[in-house]
Amino acid sequence: MFTKILIANRGEIACRVIETARKMGVGTVAVYSDADRDAKHVAMADEAVRLGPPPVGESYLLGEKIVEAALVTGAEAVHPGYGFLSENPDFVEKVEAAGLVFIGPSASAIKAMGLKDAAKVLMEEAGVPVVPGYHGNNQDEGFLAAQAEEIGYPVLIKAVAGGGGKGMRRVERAADFTEALHAARREGSASFGNAQVLIEKYVLSPRHIEIQVFGDDHGNAVHLFERDCSLQRRHQKVIEEAPAPGMTTEMREAMGAAAVRAAKAIGYSGAGTVEFIVDASDGLRPDGFWFMEMNTRLQVEHPVTEAITGVDLVEWQLLVASGAAVPRPQSQLDLSGHAFEARIYAEDVPAGFLPATGQLAVLDFPEGVRIDNGVRAGDEISPWYDPMIAKLTVHGPTRAVALGRLHKALQATEIIGCTTNVGFLAALASHEGFAAGAVDTGLIERDLEALTTELDPPDALKAVAAIGARDWNNGFTLWAPLRQQVVLDGVAYWVSVLGGDRYQVDDLEVAVLATNGADWQVEIGGKIARARVRRQAGSLYVAMGGASYTATIDDPLNRVMGAEANANELHAPMPGLVSTVLASAGDTVEAGAPLIVMEAMKMEHTLRAPFDGQVAEVLTSSGAQVESGALLLRMEAP
Ligand code: ADP
Repeated sequence: MFTKILIANRGEIACRVIETARKMGVGTVAVYSDADRDAKHVAMADEAVRLGPPPVGESYLLGEKIVEAALVTGAEAVHPGYGFLSENPDFVEKVEAAGLVFIGPSASAIKAMGLKDAAKVLMEEAGVPVVPGYHGNNQDEGFLAAQAEEIGYPVLIKAVAGGGGKGMRRVERAADFTEALHAARREGSASFGNAQVLIEKYVLSPRHIEIQVFGDDHGNAVHLFERDCSLQRRHQKVIEEAPAPGMTTEMREAMGAAAVRAAKAIGYSGAGTVEFIVDASDGLRPDGFWFMEMNTRLQVEHPVTEAITGVDLVEWQLLVASGAAVPRPQSQLDLSGHAFEARIYAEDVPAGFLPATGQLAVLDFPEGVRIDNGVRAGDEISPWYDPMIAKLTVHGPTRAVALGRLHKALQATEIIGCTTNVGFLAALASHEGFAAGAVDTGLIERDLEALTTELDPPDALKAVAAIGARDWNNGFTLWAPLRQQVVLDGVAYWVSVLGGDRYQVDDLEVAVLATNGADWQVEIGGKIARARVRRQAGSLYVAMGGASYTATIDDPLNRVMGAEANANELHAPMPGLVSTVLASAGDTVEAGAPLIVMEAMKMEHTLRAPFDGQVAEVLTSSGAQVESGALLLRMEAP
């Protein structure tokens, strides 16, 4: 076993790897950018080496600098985590050329699976079923359109180098093909430096079921069963589970065997995932799954597999990388119970899932669940990196019990200081179709409205919030006026003191019977309820009866009145990167014309002309990192 390893990553996955390394008595070296000097992964590691300024191109993607850091600190191996350099064969070669071990597959295995088109050819040869479509070299627009016609709409255009749901466009009809092709190419070249695409049949009622595989340098390969990652939004996984609901022994064996064939075909060593698309329109059938791609690294959602198998996948990674065989043969691998993982993000769900930033004043999770995270209370969710706050994983003897635990745990999660998707995840965890196991990748999109309107907190909760915010506004309750206005998230409430412990908030009468720190006992409408009320700086968190509400308290004394929205101006709706500027000053544009493309959290967001007119001024440029609200462009009416 190694005595010291370097983790070429940040955030939760760096912390995850450090935890197991420590358990195994292996020393750890972290790397960091200037934005991460005080980050959790740096604090956890035995040593840490600075890479550079915050942009990933000047820090976490600097392969040479990372190798140098490993050499300087005496680390013998490099764990890449996921993302960043984890699937970069050049990096693997650099690591190995320096005499270090790459904790992962060989450069050639990564290359074989690196491009979706080449991987599909290889898999066809290995006898693994692949989605029907065109994955050849002819990239002529007319030719591709004809291929799409032949495959039959709807089709999916995928950037061959794409990943993380990026560079992918579903096309319903021929008329939309060209625009979608351009968008996929643009994303492909902007994010992966490769504009080549493939076209696939869009599988109806698609389910995403993937198989965890593990190989070693002695020719062994096993699988650790499946994960169902069908709950997605814009092709990004939201909640994952293992095993897959409705899975039969027959299909599990067929999928497991295909995945092991895929791994063996490329001499795979270490942890990998073979992703399949499954047609669920007719139940799960052993002939109804097709290879999509192989991820040649540890996946974000690996904890659900660990929960049902009892295997520490990072431990296996370290063992296999140091030369050991896969620790257990297939016959000694078993699964037990059911697990779910929910990805908690800093994002504004009602605003269209826009990434959010902020300082996490409070970050509290309930007991009895697994939390993987890379931030602590007090840490900042910065615009530089993925805004994931934590992964919450639960396990139970049955799917129903595990799902109940997930729901309860999400309800008991307290985060203040940053807008999060926790309420949305809780709504999903109690979604009827999801509970019934009727999952497919379109579930969230179909029920988005119901899932997001449920997020609107009930009046009783807002009333308790208004009372909770009241003290804060004044500092001393003693001197608070009998009738006072409180503004939460821009909405005004009148709170009147009726005497003793009783308050009137708009039309609701609330009695605060007892308070013990954040634990309140309140009476509303003849019922007694327990509430959690926590305040931190200008934010408030209230939870009661299974619902929670996080609000910003507007201090009336120093409230900066938001400038009247100016229809001539385009502002950044989220913090992120300006990927493309499509207009210049003086351009005449039609209403709806795309002017600026931004990206954040692997998502493209297009800002369009609000009316027919002229571009007066462009105040940003491609590659600029901007804060939410930044003025990007001014228009002039004709
Ligand atoms: P990425 O590498 O960007 O993650 P994938 O090829 O893994 O892209 O696909 C991501 C998601 O897109 C899948 O989980 C699935 O939901 C959807 N998807 C991919 N291919 C198809 C297809 N042929 N038909 C329907 N949905 C698909």
